Amino acid sequence: MIVLLAREREALVADCVARYPEEACGLLIGRRDNDTVVVTQVAPSPNLSQAPRTSFEIDTKLRLDLARELRGGPTAVVGLYHSHPEGDAAPSATDRARAWEPDLVWVIVALERGRVAALAAHAITPAGATFAFHPIAIAGEPRTSA
Ligand SMILES: [Zn+2]
Repeated sequence: MIVLLAREREALVADCVARYPEEACGLLIGRRDNDTVVVTQVAPSPNLSQAPRTSFEIDTKLRLDLARELRGGPTAVVGLYHSHPEGDAAPSATDRARAWEPDLVWVIVALERGRVAALAAHAITPAGATFAFHPIAIAGEPRTSA
């Protein structure tokens, strides 16, 4: 399970909306409590992909800077997020091919005409030579009237 409270959820959603129609991306900082990941901070990254409308690439310098900054503290990089402009919130074929680090939770925001259509979180487990994504529950979601 991932705990994504309103402040962090709004921060990453706002970043995804602001960068539409390109894919937004960034890192999630937080702490791990057994199987639960609690996100405490969102760190947007420039999308360094050559094709930012259809893929994303997080700045490795941001990752290294955060790792250095957080070392020895209670929080660490626990996941990443990116958006799918006009897509769904499931990992794409590209995401599956490029999955790395089974310890990171992936949050994917689906956008439709610049608005949030869905938000989902996925954990990664090793599957042979590659990795498999599994949907995980998100706690702290705003209630919907549905
Ligand atoms: Zn993707």
